[in-house]
Amino acid sequence: MTDAASDPGPIAFIGLGMMGLPMALRLVAAGFSVRGSDLSEQALAAFVAAHGIGCASARTAAQGASIVITMLPNGSIVRDALLGPGGAALALAPGSLVIDMSSSAPMETRQLAEDLSARDVFLVDAPVSGGVKRAVAGTLAIMAGGDPAQIERARPLLSAMGSTIIATGAAGSGHAVKALNNYVSAAGLVAACESVLIAEKFGVDPNVLVDVLNVSTGKNNSTELKLKPFILSGTFASGFSMALMAKDLRTAADLSEQLGIDAEGARDAAALWAEASAALGKAADHTEIHRFVAARGGKPEKGG
Ligand code: NAD
Repeated sequence: MTDAASDPGPIAFIGLGMMGLPMALRLVAAGFSVRGSDLSEQALAAFVAAHGIGCASARTAAQGASIVITMLPNGSIVRDALLGPGGAALALAPGSLVIDMSSSAPMETRQLAEDLSARDVFLVDAPVSGGVKRAVAGTLAIMAGGDPAQIERARPLLSAMGSTIIATGAAGSGHAVKALNNYVSAAGLVAACESVLIAEKFGVDPNVLVDVLNVSTGKNNSTELKLKPFILSGTFASGFSMALMAKDLRTAADLSEQLGIDAEGARDAAALWAEASAALGKAADHTEIHRFVAARGGKPEKGG
């Protein structure tokens, strides 16, 4: 619970989707007064049904708040929700803090930090890893970029949503690290999916392959937490969309290009996931990359 001395007052939370809703509810459960907003009436209704305070717009949510949290699909939507017409930042007093927990593009975040700074508003980029399950449990991994004093200011809120908070450096560095994490994660997932297809064709039970990987050096987050629950089961329901993963890989590839680093793996991964996302559509879960890889490999798709 918050005490009077450390109470930051009302918190505006913009974006109550798969991740934002459980994260905002962790803040409510920790005793913060949270004013939520989302373009989707359904998302807003789910927050209100769980005892959150629903607001009609980002700007209304930010009225009277000194901290705004964004959990939106990408950085340009974040920018628009803060600084566009009717944006939340326009309602903020000098000295206020914006915490962008979305997975945004780091160079855009640097620019956003400068533009907010011109209004005397601070920015901490604090993207997360761990998915919906860990958002519900309040055990996300959070990587925080920005002024150390502002990260400390954000810490009581971040601690209600995550179990690990790592300061990554200047504004934008959290977003850089997040994109690189997802590149490594996606590469591990594709390798795992390809291995399942190859093993199966050779006559090995994929469940046996997964059991071996998970006690061997091939073990990774996808072999442990995605292959059996979402891929071999055919449910493909991890709660993280393929479109969002494709965006993160584009961000990682763009960052390498912007820094003049020739990262062939990141470029190839971005191209593969962009193609898969275009082929499988907006509603596809990112674990459906298995279906895409299978179809390309000439194997009948499982679960689809
Ligand atoms: P989501 O699509 O479920 O939620 C996004 C929400 O933002 C939706 O409810 C949408 O209606 C709302 N929205 C869009 N534009 C808006 C605007 N202008 N104003 C107010 N609301 C708006 O996405 P998600 O899975 O919750 O992901 C959110 C962010 O977290 C993304 O940047 C994603 O890359 C990142 N992320 C997701 C996961 C995951 O497992 N789902 C894990 C880590 C990070």
